Amino acid sequence: MPNRPAQSDPFDLVVFGGTGDLAHRKLLPSLYHREPVGQLGEGARIIAVSRRPLSDDEYRDWARKAICEHVADIDQDALERFLARIQYVSVDVAQNTGWETLEQTLAGREGVVRAFYLSVSPDFFGPICSSLGEHNLVTEKSRVTIEKPIGKNGKSAHTVNETIGSVFKEHQIFRIDHYLGKETVQNLMALRFANVLFEPLWNAAHIDHVQITVAETLGVEGRAGYYDTAGALRDMVQNHLLQLLCLVAMEPPESMAPDSVRDEKLKVLKALHPMSAEMVERNTVRGQYRAGASAGGAVKGYLDELGHPDSHTETFVAAKVDIQSWRWANVPFYLRTGKRLAARVSEITIQFKDLPHSIFLPGAGRIAANKLVIRLQPDEGVKMQVMIKDPGSSSMRLREVPLDMTFAEAFNVRQPDAYERLIMDMIRGNQTLFMRRDEVEAAWKWIDPILEHWSHLKEAPKPYTSGTWGPSASIALIERDGRTWHDESY
Ligand code: NAD
Repeated sequence: MPNRPAQSDPFDLVVFGGTGDLAHRKLLPSLYHREPVGQLGEGARIIAVSRRPLSDDEYRDWARKAICEHVADIDQDALERFLARIQYVSVDVAQNTGWETLEQTLAGREGVVRAFYLSVSPDFFGPICSSLGEHNLVTEKSRVTIEKPIGKNGKSAHTVNETIGSVFKEHQIFRIDHYLGKETVQNLMALRFANVLFEPLWNAAHIDHVQITVAETLGVEGRAGYYDTAGALRDMVQNHLLQLLCLVAMEPPESMAPDSVRDEKLKVLKALHPMSAEMVERNTVRGQYRAGASAGGAVKGYLDELGHPDSHTETFVAAKVDIQSWRWANVPFYLRTGKRLAARVSEITIQFKDLPHSIFLPGAGRIAANKLVIRLQPDEGVKMQVMIKDPGSSSMRLREVPLDMTFAEAFNVRQPDAYERLIMDMIRGNQTLFMRRDEVEAAWKWIDPILEHWSHLKEAPKPYTSGTWGPSASIALIERDGRTWHDESY
């Protein structure tokens, strides 16, 4: 039996954007999951805020539908208990109306944790924080969570951070990157730092290279307008892929204390080899999908979806990244992310070096170098590829097998969604899995020159057919180093 989580202290969780897509698909279902396990204590309230005028009951109906749509096994009693915690307040941030109702709803609860979750357009981050300040809604026990994107470049991220920082102190600000809440990402930390086995091998002497792939089969769907102002580098690499890279590459932190972990991640970001114009040309590939076949059907190209024939926004990026440190000298990190690719998969592959010398006869078969594969999507899991003697064979034949280190099935537990963990961490005030301001700004400092160089290019992103692994230049990027992308298992 898994341990039951500790019951939370009373809290008010105020979700701006309570009627949005994120609330529907992730926030409400994730919060509900904490009810049947008893984590939501007495006095835990959820206050959904949005522009639409709705009564509490109308919102609860909407929330019920969201939960029923996204949760497989519903405990009806728990669902009723959960819905009873929810209230709804209409605030129009653009018109600056409705704040008094929110004040009344929160009145008398100044002593409990007050967590604001800004699940709204980033343009509203500043106005919401300013209004919370003006209406004296920010208490000692307040915190604020913001969703990506934090800025469009280093300068605008600085402005966003300044605005939020004028109302909330850094220890109250939770910049969410939901990849950090994933079970396998936690497991990566456990593998690295709760075993003696890996750490001695975790360096340039034994690791050949690292690959991080975040591949989607979906296109931009209804988000083309937003996406065209962002692109894959801002939307995925600046946050998710660089955060994963940090967790693989960081030195062992002193403890799991938030600043111990974040100090180490920051050092990695600062050690990324800055990309000169010449390196951007050589070590990055940007692509844009064309019509093709994806997820079993014919799909349009990006420009047709967008309705704009001249966009140079990239829907795919591949990059070869160097970390300037003793541990990672000459160990490239290959990053790759894109839409409309051949499979939906997010994976980190740690490729170990070849054996220095084989004692086996050629007839024993090929000896594949060891590989640790940490899969975040679609099925979370960790596998170590090792060589063994082929069982039953009378001669010494070798065979590569995966050692499966995923124990959810063996322990018969449901893997919690990343948001479940992150929301509860935020309520507890634990910032370990959230990005600190200097991390976000250091990530932009590395990304900005790439964006800058691309902005001067006349050449369009390289086209790729939907349903493939991206432009051929991304394959050339890794193959010219004598390596290949690990696509064979999808
Ligand atoms: P959405 O457009 O579906 O929802 C936006 C919400 O903001 C709605 O509840 C809407 O009522 C509210 N809103 C709009 N104008 C308002 C106003 N004037 N006053 C008050 N409320 C107003 O957006 P979303 O997809 O839920 O995304 C929310 C945030 O989360 C964004 O910052 C987005 O970038 C980020 N995000 C979303 C996802 C996702 O999967 N949806 C993933 C990662 C990050």
